[in-house]
Formats: sequence, structure tokens, C-alpha cells
Amino acid sequence: AQQRYASIRDKPATTVDGKTISLHMNAGLIADLPSLIGSGAEGVGLFRTELQFLTRAHVPRRSELAAIYSSVMDAAQGKQVVFRTLDIGSDKVLPYMKPTEEPNPAMGWRAIRVGLDKKGVMRMQLQALIRAANGRPLSVMFPFVAQFDEFREARQHLLDELDRERKLGHALPADVKIGAMLETPSLAFAPKQFFELADFISIGGNDLKQFFFAADRENERVRKRYDTLNVSFLTFLEQIVARCQDTNTPMSFCGEDAGRPIEAMCFAAIGMRTLSMRPASIGPVKSLLRRVDLGEAKAVIDAARASGAQSVRPAVMDWLTGRN
Ligand code: PEP
Ligand code: MG
Repeated sequence: AQQRYASIRDKPATTVDGKTISLHMNAGLIADLPSLIGSGAEGVGLFRTELQFLTRAHVPRRSELAAIYSSVMDAAQGKQVVFRTLDIGSDKVLPYMKPTEEPNPAMGWRAIRVGLDKKGVMRMQLQALIRAANGRPLSVMFPFVAQFDEFREARQHLLDELDRERKLGHALPADVKIGAMLETPSLAFAPKQFFELADFISIGGNDLKQFFFAADRENERVRKRYDTLNVSFLTFLEQIVARCQDTNTPMSFCGEDAGRPIEAMCFAAIGMRTLSMRPASIGPVKSLLRRVDLGEAKAVIDAARASGAQSVRPAVMDWLTGRN
């Protein structure tokens, strides 16, 4: 598939009306990094850090993690890598952590909730990231932030660790960016100060959609009822874009839907300028973006919304296939 898109690999995802969308890739292993060059991605928009924890019988050591994160940065050859702190709980359960019986793990003790309650592991991971950067720029994002104070607190831990590393005489990152994943509807309505404090925001569409429609992402039967291009969801995403624009907060979308060309095009049409997806999706998404006029796409979306349609997909498909 990458061969098929080789001719546009080094070309920008610039639309017919001159809007350039920045395409990044999602990763979780050092072994994923060669795709960064092969796919033409601008950087790693989401590096999931769960795998190194899930594949061991014990909590990985700080030095072990630092070595892995450092190799990831080496392999990225100066391109940006956004490291997401541990998102365990929910569908990802650690064998060595006493499994707490929870009736609803997706809405339970997971991600930053665990990190803030059990600070040791999160701080150790943050130290490993700072040491891995060793003077290079560092981007960290916290998963599953549902309210402002959770972000403020997690961010403070990173600032404290930076201070501690400085006192220990370790090299500090050349630049530190601290972001939040927007994966719960509540965060979209957080105070303006949240959007000002965050260096960037990344929409975790997999979780955001699950909580927006109250439809389990692991449950095919209910998940398939709700189209990502449903007017309610698309309008909600558009409002998040507007809030980020209002505070000049860089924003991206890193859920699976970013890798689906039609969805990606609609996201771009409502104002998103950075998408992160699996490497194999970069070619197909870029290929479509380079062939469309986003202004026209937006007009099609707006007309579909005004018509009372449940989803804008049929109208967008008709437009793309030249049927209207
Ligand atoms: C998401 O929820 O969209 C996301 C990118 O995180 P994960 O799929 O790892 O929960
Ligand atoms: Mg998520």
C-alpha cells in the first residue's frame, strides 16, 4: 500500500483550496518507527506507552524505559514524538497490578486517574522521559483528562520532575510541551484557562465518541449504530476546534477515525489542521486531501446539517462521487 502512494510521500497534504493538513503517525513500539520515514508522516502524534508495561511481569525500571524512549527519539531523527503517559485500566490491564473488580472499567480507575492516585509510577515515567530527551525537545500528553485540575496537577508533576532532574545535574529538554488528550465530553466545556494552559490538545476520538454516544467502543453491536459523521458528533468536534482556535491552542485528532479518508477530510473541513493515524493510512488520507476543495466540502457538510440528515456521510459521498 505504501508503494501505491510513494509518489506523494514527500508531498504535503495540501488541498485544492490551499489548506495544508499536517499528518502524523501513531506508534507504540520502537519497531513502528521505520514507518515514520516510509509513510511520509511529519512526526509521531501519539506514542502509546502501554506496551512496555503490558509485556513485562513487573513494572519496568526507569532506566529501561529511558533507553526505550531514547531509541524512539533517535529513530525519529529530530521529528516530533508526542509521548502519552500510561493509559492502563479499561481495556489494558497490567498483569502485576492487582486487578480491581470494576463494573465499568472504561469509565473506571484508568489512565491519569491511576497516575494521580499512584504517583510513583507516573513520576518514574516522567523522569524516564526527561532523561531520554537528554537535552532534546520533549512533548508529553496526559490521557483521559476529564477536568481542568487533573491536567493542572499532572502538569505540575512534570514541572516538579524537571526541577528535580535539574538539581540532580541532568540535562533538561531543550523545550517541553505539555498537552492533554480530550477524550471525555466534559473537557470540551472546561474553563478557558484550561485551553490556555495546555500547550496542545489531542482529541482521542475513540474514547470521545464512546462517551459522547454512550456506546462501548468494544461492542460492535452498539458502536456501529453511531456514525462518526453523525451531525451531533461532527458539530461537537467543530465546537472543540473553535475553542482551541479561540485560545490559539494547537490541536490534533489522534483516534482511529483520523485514518479514514472521508472522516479525515470532514475533520479538515471543520477546521482541524493536524491528524495522527496509523502509518498505512497516511497515503490514502493524503491522496484524498490533495484532491478536494475544503471550502466546498464544508458547504456540503453545512447543507447536510441544515437538511436534518442524521449523518453528513451520504451527502459527502455523493459530492465526492460527483453525483450532486
Ligand atoms: C482514543 O481514545 O482515541 C485514543 C487515541 O486513545 P486509545 O485508543 O489508546 O484509548
Ligand atoms: Mg483513549
